[in-house]
Parts: sequence; C-alpha cells; structure tokens
Amino acid sequence: MTQQPSILDNLHTIKQQIATLEQRYERPAGSVRLLAVSKTKPLELVQLAAQSGQHAFGENYIEEGIDKQTQIADPTLEWHFIGNIQSNKTRLVANHYHWVQSIDRLRIVTRLAAQRAPELPPLNVCIQINIDAEASKAGCQPEEVDQLVESIIGSPSLKLRGLMAIPAPRQNLEDQRHVFARLRDIYQQMQRDHTGVDTLSIGMSADMEAAIAEGSTMVRIGTAIFGSRDRP
Ligand SMILES: *Cc1c(COP(=O)(O)O)cnc(C)c1O
Repeated sequence: MTQQPSILDNLHTIKQQIATLEQRYERPAGSVRLLAVSKTKPLELVQLAAQSGQHAFGENYIEEGIDKQTQIADPTLEWHFIGNIQSNKTRLVANHYHWVQSIDRLRIVTRLAAQRAPELPPLNVCIQINIDAEASKAGCQPEEVDQLVESIIGSPSLKLRGLMAIPAPRQNLEDQRHVFARLRDIYQQMQRDHTGVDTLSIGMSADMEAAIAEGSTMVRIGTAIFGSRDRP
C-alpha cells in the first residue's frame, strides 16, 4: 500500500523528464507520448495511473490486458498490445486493443485484418523491427518492412502508424543513439512513402533520453513508473 503514492510520483517525474528532454533535443513540446507499460502489474496500480490522467497503456500478455480493460471499464483509455503475437490468438488482439505495435510477419497482418470487427475503427499498427537481429527477440528485419507495409496499407481494417523496436541493451548514450538513428532513418523513409505515418515507438526506462534525442514519438515506460517486475 505504501507503494501506491510512488506510482503517481513516478508518473509525474517521467512526464517532467520527457518535457525536459524535448527541450534539450529541440523537439516540439508535447511531441513525445507516454505509453505506461503495465504488464504483470496489478489492476489497482493501473487504475491509480488512469485516475491520475494517464491515457495510454501497454500490455504484453493478451488475456491479462483484456482482463484489466474489462475491470477498469473506462472507454476513454487507449490500450496497446506490445507483446509477441501467437497466430492462434490474433482474434483477441484484433478486437480488444486500439493499437498493436508488435507486427512482425505477414501471417499476423492477414489474420488481424480479417478478424478486426467491421464495426470497429481501423486497428492502429506499428511494425516491430528486430534491429539487432537477436535470436531471442520478436520483430522483422529491416529488409522485410516493405512487404509488411504493402500488406497493411492494402487492408482497410488496419491503419499503418509506424515502427516499434526494442534494441539490445547498451550502456552509454552514444551507442544507444546510434541504433535509434538507424530506426529513425527507416521511419523517415516510411513517412515519405506513406501518409498517416506518425509513430516512432522507441525508448524504454533505460534508454528514454537517447530515443527522444533521435526522434521518438512514443516512449514505452514500465519499470520507471510501476517498479521492477518478477517476470520480464
Ligand atoms: C516491458 C516492455 C517495455 C517497458 O520496459 P521497461 O524497461 O520496464 O520500461 C517497453 N516495451 C516493451 C515491448 C516491453 O515488453
């Protein structure tokens, strides 16, 4: 229980840090959105964050995220699915989230596009790039982005918003910036080629500054808001 006020302090601190970094790197004020990553965290903490005005939440486990949505029952909140998508669960993702940031293969695009209920607005999607080609991580290779983009823009029930990535951990700011700059280049090319692309989802608790320096429009912050996790 003593933990709860710290969530609000943490949120406040993160928002101030984002504002400071926008200024430091000459980004327009308000150009970096905050996604609160609430995976594995109890409902009460998510509720507290929502009551304090946090609007967008990221979840990695499909059913856990849907449970929270059902229990909080606040239609103004925006839910992002950011975890690995198994193809037998795409129907749940398609119909219970506003955004999916972890698109990495054609089969998932096809299934989400077909399963999104026609009465819902288009599902916002980002393509996840495995920028360090790590065997353990989801995401496509940069060369695979174009064919995913073509498939997404050919699907009226999906709306292409941009890119998401989780680079391998790097200790210093320069190295972190270097990998994010490669992602920014791919993102800017996508923006030149397609209308409506407005989201570069990069930056987590440990590399938020580098991401904002390189043009992130959405940082996904878990630990720095909700504390450390037992599960990844
Ligand atoms: C867990 C997770 C985050 C948040 O990471 P923190 O280091 O806790 O800020 C962001 N993005 C994705 C895709 C995640 O799985």
